[in-house]
Amino acid sequence: MSKVSAYYSINPTDPDVHHDQSDCPSGQQIPAHNRRSGTNGYPKCKHCRDM
Ligand SMILES: [Zn+2]
Repeated sequence: MSKVSAYYSINPTDPDVHHDQSDCPSGQQIPAHNRRSGTNGYPKCKHCRDM
């Protein structure tokens, strides 16, 4: 588990959250073409908060 720069998915069907853990199970499902850096103003996802 390691902390990375914040990232989020631009896919409108994904939850409006950002991630900052490299091993986040939700974050890992984001394909590279939907992944953007930053938080986009979204709250941190539950998995990343609990890690
Ligand atoms: Zn996450």
